[in-house]
Amino acid sequence: MQTCLFYKIAVIASVFLLFAGCSSRQEITEQQIPLHTELPAYTRHLKGFKICLDPGHGGQAHVPNYKRGPTGIREAEVNLKVALHLRDMLQEVGTTVIMTRVDDSYVSLAKRSQIANESNADFFISLHHNGIDNSPETNYTSTWYHGDADDSRQSLDLARYIQQGVSDALRLPRFPATGLYSDKLVTASGFGVLRLTECPAVLCEASFLSNPEEETRLQDNAYLRQEAYGYFLGIARYVTAGFPKGVLIDPQHTSTVKTKTPHLQIRVMDGLHERGAWMLKRQQVFTASIRVKVDGVIFPHHYDRNTDIITVAIEKPLSNGVHFVETELVNYYGKHSLPSPQRFKV
Ligand SMILES: [Zn+2]
Repeated sequence: MQTCLFYKIAVIASVFLLFAGCSSRQEITEQQIPLHTELPAYTRHLKGFKICLDPGHGGQAHVPNYKRGPTGIREAEVNLKVALHLRDMLQEVGTTVIMTRVDDSYVSLAKRSQIANESNADFFISLHHNGIDNSPETNYTSTWYHGDADDSRQSLDLARYIQQGVSDALRLPRFPATGLYSDKLVTASGFGVLRLTECPAVLCEASFLSNPEEETRLQDNAYLRQEAYGYFLGIARYVTAGFPKGVLIDPQHTSTVKTKTPHLQIRVMDGLHERGAWMLKRQQVFTASIRVKVDGVIFPHHYDRNTDIITVAIEKPLSNGVHFVETELVNYYGKHSLPSPQRFKV
């Protein structure tokens, strides 16, 4: 009897829960999906970085039909609003933000790159919204890097994270085959703002302002903030993945050696161990990714995983003067070392 009574209670409870579940599901579908703008713990890695944000266009409201949506919303204004939201989020976690413009003024492409270069920004992001004639249904996210992928590995590292962050935030129904595009697809010399910027640089076309529904959404401040949050998470994940590098320790950077056939020693740093985390002792860098160039020429090297030291034995005597050492490597997150040639004098 007791078992039977328990069974009845269980059935009644299940039916009650079923209906309760239905009603709560209805409530959720009737409401707006909440915007998740809490800051994940990994965003703390952004502290201390210097990021240049470049809201595309500006100062050309007088040009008829220049970069406008179907009802006349200007791309320059939308770009700026998103960039200002993003700036606020980045500053909240201790990032220094350099803006190429903070109002509707005209700034040349060369000037935008100059602002990034002179401020020694760690990386550069140009924020845009796309447009296409005679195809109002077109709407997707794309992220652009300069030139050939082999020459833009560091910018592509950033582009991947931005593309995924913004795509996740906007959840547009279409995702292109890659989402990552070379600016050479548009012009032979690429985009000036990417070509002239020295640090890793990308340009993101978050969505299509020429799509009528998208133009409506882009007038909603909450939607713009959601887009900025997508950039923010993409940037935070990019930084969290670390910046691997090879550090010349013998001879030390800028020092002078007496021998013309030095044995170079380079310390491998994955950009992750320095956080004091719990992980295997060896630096988290792919052995096969290591490449050492002396004066632009690839030299054979030996990498000792126990000491995390790369050794390069130079057998052919070097000339008197300054010589440059560049170490390329990739860490477990797939991040490529930034170009940072170190030098010594013979
Ligand atoms: Zn644009």
